[in-house]
Amino acid sequence: MFISKVLQALLFKFFRLGFCVYVYGKKELYARGHQAMRYGERVLYSRRYQGGGYKKRALYARRYQGGYGKRALRATPLHALLLMLCLCTQPFDEADSFTFSVADVGQGLAQFGVKDGRAVLWDMGLPNQYSAWRGVYEKLGKPDIVSIVISHSDADHLGGLQYLDHSIKWNGVVAVSPFEDTVKIRAAAGVWASRVRFEIYAKGDTMRTLSDVEIICLWPPKEIELDLPLDGSLRNRYSLVFSLRHGHCRGLITSDIDSTAMMTIAAQSGYGLASQILVAPHHGSAGSVNQLFFSYTSARTAVISCARQNNYGHPSQEMLNHLIIGGTDLLFTYLDGTITFVSNGHYWSNNID
Ligand SMILES: [Zn+2]
Repeated sequence: MFISKVLQALLFKFFRLGFCVYVYGKKELYARGHQAMRYGERVLYSRRYQGGGYKKRALYARRYQGGYGKRALRATPLHALLLMLCLCTQPFDEADSFTFSVADVGQGLAQFGVKDGRAVLWDMGLPNQYSAWRGVYEKLGKPDIVSIVISHSDADHLGGLQYLDHSIKWNGVVAVSPFEDTVKIRAAAGVWASRVRFEIYAKGDTMRTLSDVEIICLWPPKEIELDLPLDGSLRNRYSLVFSLRHGHCRGLITSDIDSTAMMTIAAQSGYGLASQILVAPHHGSAGSVNQLFFSYTSARTAVISCARQNNYGHPSQEMLNHLIIGGTDLLFTYLDGTITFVSNGHYWSNNID
């Protein structure tokens, strides 16, 4: 088993990276991709010679900036062992993947982040979409739920919570903003109500429940901002926003923020918003369009979660125009079904049901 994992890792590295250079300097052996490393004046490195004239598979050493030198480095079994260990310990392993899904739950929002059999959920969709939510949960392998984020307590984000039964593997943690109605959420938690534990998240907090996946809260602020009032009709404005970071892969979860909140977040976070994947705010609403926010995000793909026919005009033509002009590819849950992205720490791949 161990040997097969090692062989898999070696094949993965060699085929993914193309060719490998290893560097010998200061009595240490380093392995890395095709960028040469430099250690002072006398760096030696060996590689397969790419031109003609030398025997295939021969290893040659040379000075970093010189031609092929006289100081050929002969690989010994110890070097080979160290090289193998270096290759196997690089963070490139596909088993290290992080899965992010936006579930097709009609006119609502439900997202899953899964790593190593543990999951953080962002919202639960409408009550009548629970079976759809459950289908996605089972398809993802029934992970242990370590936190359910309720971005705000509107029915299209909170609804499915009431149907969670004890067959769901959940520790009872609900993450909310400082401004949330926790009494309402506890009451909505059905058979779990007495076991719910709230954790409060606001701008600057980081959730560390999925090993090497950073889950950073960008919004709302810890206190109500005087120029951004909060009342019942503006509840969307203070819904939770998170940046997901796994290696070089970024995802941005925006729940139902409005254009005013977007403007403030853009001004505060700037290029910190940069993400390959954007879950478009408020189901694509015309009231959630801000060019500065979209520009800083520069998403390659945006996902819009809404029903095919809804009473709100989602997604709005205005948002579609802004995203398309910015060069962003669009995916829609009502057209594409549940949309799943997998990060290996370097790039996202995506899968549509
Ligand atoms: Zn909503």
